[in-house]
Amino acid sequence: MPKINESFQPKNELNGEVGIVGFGPAGMFAALRALELGLKPIIFERGKDVRSRRRDLAILNKESIVNPESNYCIGEGGAGTYSDGKLYTRSKKRGDVQRTLEWFVQFGAEDDILVDAHPHIGTNKLPQIIVAMREAILENGGEVHFESKITDFFSENGKITGLEINGKEKRNFENVILATGHSARDIFDLIHKKGWQLNAKSFALGVRIEHPQELIDKIQYHGRVNDDFIPPASYSLVTQVNGRGVYSFCMCPGGIVAPCATAEGEVVTNGWSPSKRNNPFANSGIVVSISPDDLEDKSPFACLNFQKEVEQKCWEMAGKEQKVPAQRLLDFIEGKQSKDLPISSYQPGMTSLDLNEVLPKIISDNLKEAFLSFGEKMKDFMTNEAVIHAPESRTSSPIQVPRGKDLQHPDVKGLYPCAEGAGYAGGIISAAIDGMKCVDEIVKKEYFYYFYKKNR
Ligand SMILES: Cc1cc2nc3c(=O)[nH]c(=O)nc-3n(C[C@H](O)[C@H](O)[C@H](O)COP(=O)(O)OP(=O)(O)OC[C@H]3O[C@@H](n4cnc5c(N)ncnc54)[C@H](O)[C@@H]3O)c2cc1C
Repeated sequence: MPKINESFQPKNELNGEVGIVGFGPAGMFAALRALELGLKPIIFERGKDVRSRRRDLAILNKESIVNPESNYCIGEGGAGTYSDGKLYTRSKKRGDVQRTLEWFVQFGAEDDILVDAHPHIGTNKLPQIIVAMREAILENGGEVHFESKITDFFSENGKITGLEINGKEKRNFENVILATGHSARDIFDLIHKKGWQLNAKSFALGVRIEHPQELIDKIQYHGRVNDDFIPPASYSLVTQVNGRGVYSFCMCPGGIVAPCATAEGEVVTNGWSPSKRNNPFANSGIVVSISPDDLEDKSPFACLNFQKEVEQKCWEMAGKEQKVPAQRLLDFIEGKQSKDLPISSYQPGMTSLDLNEVLPKIISDNLKEAFLSFGEKMKDFMTNEAVIHAPESRTSSPIQVPRGKDLQHPDVKGLYPCAEGAGYAGGIISAAIDGMKCVDEIVKKEYFYYFYKKNR
């Protein structure tokens, strides 16, 4: 059994508070770290607890009704809860990655994630781990408030002084970690209204492709399929088209394509898989990098507006429900609407459209060239058995909330823009690490002596 070196060790006494906005991986790990360093974490999460959230997801999948306060991105555990739970990261800090994985194990994940090259938890197992983390936070003196949306920030003389909750209640804080994820568009608007800096940020947008898993197994295992000793195969593809990166994103073997819109009037896809990865489909985002320089709009909202326009157009063209515009892969390359569509795992349904007419040219043209190059790398990837769903658009934040070396916002001290929503993380592990890092900075600033003498 792999050994746990860095277990979660809360302090008995808490001195001082930190406000944490958002209970995704960043907010959760920030709270756990705060308890280790003797700070009381007070968490505000606009969504519901995991169990109540599950009901809203069933309604979204079956009835196409999007609850803006409870969906695949909003609620306890954040976008990470009903995700695939792949725990790979490009983060270079091995020690931080290891500690994060060890805490996952301590709260209920299988210990093989400590040694796997590509650790994965699965959607079915994540919720109970998240509940165990929440219970530990409560037992050790933290507060977790669900259905508590931060609607305003209070500040004086360039320093944060408090938070407004649900448009009425106020709580005072000198330090606030802002871990609201890439879908908190109202938080970006709020920061902008306050006159605090925001920057447009590069991101990526494209489609989610789905193949039969057996076909991907055949390609990757050179014809060897239905073998109990080998896991469902995955792939990772990347190419440059006209100097622009096009790549596979969040590949889910044995997975499901999920409706990840966070408001009515838009369609968004992503993917997840259960721990056994035993669904008959393999899905992956195939996305094209977009930079602010590609767009005429020069405002901080340029990339966000581009993202929104695509999501709204998909919704309008597919029938103003959660149906997704879809096309067989070879038909997309040939620019013809598919006469029929294969079975897809996307539950709310598909509308057959030519995605060349749905997606902006900068996306569709680059996607087509990239697919041809992927077909050369992976024989049989290019098949009309594959169906593409549009759009895959929430790959990372299209806005960066700036922060200095001390991780505070340059215009408002005490505000710590954190993790994916602020543009400093992409994925569960890097978000969790960034949450912990923000707490370390707060403690360093506020409790210099305490931090260095007692915790090093
Ligand atoms: C379907 C799906 C599958 C994914 N699969 C993987 C995967 O396999 N591996 C991986 O590494 N990553 C995966 N991701 C991405 C991963 O989930 C995110 O990178 C990660 O959750 C980001 O963490 P975060 O804490 O920064 O933000 P989030 O997880 O987005 O959490 C932000 C939280 O803030 C809350 N919030 C927003 N605004 C407010 C407000 N005003 N007041 C209070 N609370 C607010 C939100 O409700 C949310 O709970 C997946 C995402 C999705 C949607």
